[in-house]
Amino acid sequence: YAAKRKLSGALRYDESLDSASALTLSLLTELRRAVEHDELRLYLQPKVPLHGQGGLAAEALVRWQHPRRGLVPPMEFIPFAEQTGFVRQLTLWMFEETARLLADPRTAAMPLRISVNLSTRDLLDPELHTRLGAILARHGVQASAFCLEITESAIMDDPLRAEAMLNRLSEQGFKLSIDDFGTGYSSLAYLKRLPVDELKIDKSFVMGMESGEDDAMIVRSTIDLAHNLGLTVVAEGVENLAILDRLRALSCDEAQGYHISRPLGAEDFLVWQARQLTASSA
Ligand code: C2E
Ligand code: MG
Ligand code: MG
Ligand code: MG
Repeated sequence: YAAKRKLSGALRYDESLDSASALTLSLLTELRRAVEHDELRLYLQPKVPLHGQGGLAAEALVRWQHPRRGLVPPMEFIPFAEQTGFVRQLTLWMFEETARLLADPRTAAMPLRISVNLSTRDLLDPELHTRLGAILARHGVQASAFCLEITESAIMDDPLRAEAMLNRLSEQGFKLSIDDFGTGYSSLAYLKRLPVDELKIDKSFVMGMESGEDDAMIVRSTIDLAHNLGLTVVAEGVENLAILDRLRALSCDEAQGYHISRPLGAEDFLVWQARQLTASSA
């Protein structure tokens, strides 16, 4: 009963609870069809360095180009995909599209690193590293061209298994990032053990920096913490120049947000990147 309530809420449908399982079934059918009919889209949101030169980077974000509903944002189907386990297929699809883009002659010459989001379900798949390795081999790209983003809550679901998988992925050459940092319940002592390269400050804190001193203090402490642990720190949700300047003054390493660019379709992203390269070499 509770699960159905949660599900119908996540889908933002108003149907009665009785029809929730019918909905589940039809959405799962629709999602499977979405993959077969090529309705998923890879979007990319640029990440920029705040101090001097850094490589080009972006985060891969999924969209669903639905025949009737239009472009559906991930929050309307990712929670559902996680509940049903379908997210594992979705992750492999995103990873493969990203590998394809990295192998594209237009990006092959750029020092580009792309972050892909993993879910709990992915981390608990004992074959995850093998599956990702096969995709890398198929497209001839290096693991080091990828960063894998994992939330604290995905790790804390089964910390021992998560740690074992993160160790394997790190040995394989993937960079690892803790996403939405500050919103979960992981302990610092535990995080310190993980082979992580980056902390990503959740956008709720970044967006709140201007209005609330609490959020500004959390952002400042997270930047210091990351640096004390030898990690790179990224702020997501940077919506204006004032926040960008403030993050730079706090020595945050990288920023991502609407002020820099919205998530872009792959073709628009390539145009954006080419323009950045021209601007920085001019
Ligand atoms: P996330 O991984 O924390 O991704 C960042 C989200 O913040 C993205 O939302 C991005 O569009 C949004 N964002 C970035 N800058 C700004 C800003 O300046 N202002 C505001 N208001 N928002 C900003 P999006 O694309 O809707 O994705 C939402 C969440 O869905 C992601 O959060 C991630 O948890 C999940 N997600 C998206 N794509 C995937 C995927 O391929 N696989 C998995 N497992 N999860 C995904
Ligand atoms: Mg992310
Ligand atoms: Mg995030
Ligand atoms: Mg987030």
